[in-house]
Amino acid sequence: MSSQSLTRIHKEVLSANESYVASFGDKKDLALPPVRGFAILTCMDARLDPAGYAGLSEGDAHVIRNAGGRASDDAIRSLVISHKLLGTTEWFVIHHTNCGMELFSDEIIGDLLEDNLETAAFDGTTWRNPKHGDGCAHGQFIKWHTFSDSERSVVQDVRRIREHPLVAGHIPIYGYIYDVKTGRINEVKAATEAGRATV
Ligand SMILES: [Zn+2]
Repeated sequence: MSSQSLTRIHKEVLSANESYVASFGDKKDLALPPVRGFAILTCMDARLDPAGYAGLSEGDAHVIRNAGGRASDDAIRSLVISHKLLGTTEWFVIHHTNCGMELFSDEIIGDLLEDNLETAAFDGTTWRNPKHGDGCAHGQFIKWHTFSDSERSVVQDVRRIREHPLVAGHIPIYGYIYDVKTGRINEVKAATEAGRATV
């Protein structure tokens, strides 16, 4: 692809990477296993910066992200690899206030996609498609892992990880909610209790 045909976003990312490479320095010597021995499962929300809120540098920890920070099968796949092959021994599940996953249901996104695939608009109450047609019903068959109560979702996710047969019992799993207004992570005691090491 010639540089003329790159989008603005594409150019910005490549330009930022040039700067990063220029100051990469000692990071070339980092080992593959995370040196601080822990993993964070958190939401993909653009306002969350796990490196910032948890004090991470390159090489420190695993950060697994998806919509909602949910303990999906794929998130658990990553956590199991994180411990079994790369040695992490403590895990954090960190959801957050004002999560987009609270703003729709499986039925809502399924219906929106079935109608049209373009980005929908949210007016604070209702999602609406900008145009109609050319949608796909496939979304009706997906479990989107939405939730309506982030404290409850953290407890659910910690418990699901704790009860997974491939998760070693000695790994403590802590449950937190990041506050998008303050940057603070607040513990959900019931989640951390559910995630206590069992051996
Ligand atoms: Zn979120």
